[in-house]
Amino acid sequence: MPANASKRARTNPGREGKPRKKEPDWILGAVPQDALSPVGFRPEPKGAEARNIPDLERLAFLVANPALYEVAAEVFPRKTPGNAGRPAHYPPYIYLIFVAAISIFSSARSVEANFRLDSVWKIVVEGVRHCLGDKEADLLPETGPERHHWMDFQPKMIRALPRLREISRDTWIRQAIAQGLLSEERPRGSWLRPDRSQVINGDGTVVRPPSDQTEEFSVDKKTGEIRRHRVDPDAGIQTEGDGNSIYGKKLVAFSTRVAGKPHSRWFLNVDSARHRSPEEDPDREEEASVALRLAHEIIDRAPGVIAASFDTAWRGVHRTGLVRRGIIVFTRQHDGIKPHPLERFRYQDCTHDIYATSGRACERQITVNGKTMYSPLPVRELEVRAGNTWRFYHRVEIPCRHGAHTERIPVYETQEDQRIDPRTKRKKFNRTEHLRQVPPNTDYGDRLLGFRQDSESGNCTLDYSHRDNRVPAYGAQAALLVYLGFAWMINSISLATAAGPSA
Ligand SMILES: [Zn+2]
Repeated sequence: MPANASKRARTNPGREGKPRKKEPDWILGAVPQDALSPVGFRPEPKGAEARNIPDLERLAFLVANPALYEVAAEVFPRKTPGNAGRPAHYPPYIYLIFVAAISIFSSARSVEANFRLDSVWKIVVEGVRHCLGDKEADLLPETGPERHHWMDFQPKMIRALPRLREISRDTWIRQAIAQGLLSEERPRGSWLRPDRSQVINGDGTVVRPPSDQTEEFSVDKKTGEIRRHRVDPDAGIQTEGDGNSIYGKKLVAFSTRVAGKPHSRWFLNVDSARHRSPEEDPDREEEASVALRLAHEIIDRAPGVIAASFDTAWRGVHRTGLVRRGIIVFTRQHDGIKPHPLERFRYQDCTHDIYATSGRACERQITVNGKTMYSPLPVRELEVRAGNTWRFYHRVEIPCRHGAHTERIPVYETQEDQRIDPRTKRKKFNRTEHLRQVPPNTDYGDRLLGFRQDSESGNCTLDYSHRDNRVPAYGAQAALLVYLGFAWMINSISLATAAGPSA
């Protein structure tokens, strides 16, 4: 009986003096070195530190992205191309550049002020020249759009938002594949250790509205004066992953990146999620379903994806469909999942009780102190069977004084699991809730978890792109529009710096 508690053994920290959560009446045995935590495992080498890219260089990178113009032309077709003379209005792509530039200059007002500077507007015109040619560039007005131009065009963009989102998504994924990410032809890495660029990471983020006002009217207590405030109709109190509450709107985004290379992030898909009660906000899905839909949309277009990760909002029910498509799904295991009996293996001279605990098969044992202990079984191999629906198995070893036994444990939802139990009227076994292809608290699980933390810093970039961590947009649609622009800006930096080893 191994009495040594592993460094990963289940502990329940709880602060001194505070009432602790109820201690579980079982302990987890040592996590073995095996295929999931191999001898000599090394995490990803740290990449070079990202250099700070000045605002005007960001703008130059943005306007040099040819796909931006193609998407604008597809979403906002122009009626009479090739007409002689200077057009009265700015072409639609200028407004897409304008939206993305909000994430460079912090606010629409600041973009407008910058675009009216000759030196800055010239950068935009040169980008147009580079992508669309002299004729188009020479037709542009002498200076950038004013606020009223932007205010006039913004409602058009909001109306076209679903199309703009879809066409942007398709374009980003295509560009990422062209850059060698999500490669299908030369998929990199292995099932257990996929290359960073074959893994997609999803994140829910709360963007704060321009003001925290929740009441449209307030009364000045001294003067009795009634003041009217602009209230964001779609904002609500959100709880973030760290448990902090903030007031804002929820967005979900998926991205990938090149290992160890700064400024190599590609946003692949983004949409807004419901952030209030279903009654108040019936049109939007909740976060976990939005994230699931976004992941499937990416895999439809990028079959080279090997792994997808998200936070604990993804449960077994979300993971099952992705696993079936041949995707390694990584999330941390949800708190409070109790050990679940898997199988009692009977051999000639012995019996072993195997449970699913902490996302993997464990043998149930009793310690010398009479405590129940679940000892993770060494996984010798992750077996993968391709097909219409993919199957994944852990080939495990059950240590035994009569000599180790070998068994194969499915870690995908089997047909047998799907049968409805007549007593409970539910699926017989929610396997993907209890068993994980790459369980957390293994070296390979920790590695994938590290990718998630790395992608969360993408959200910080959005926050700090805007004054006071606020996204300058009222309403969920306007916030999504600004986020699409942000993603265009980040992707254009990745595209422009792709050639250099360390931009
Ligand atoms: Zn045995």
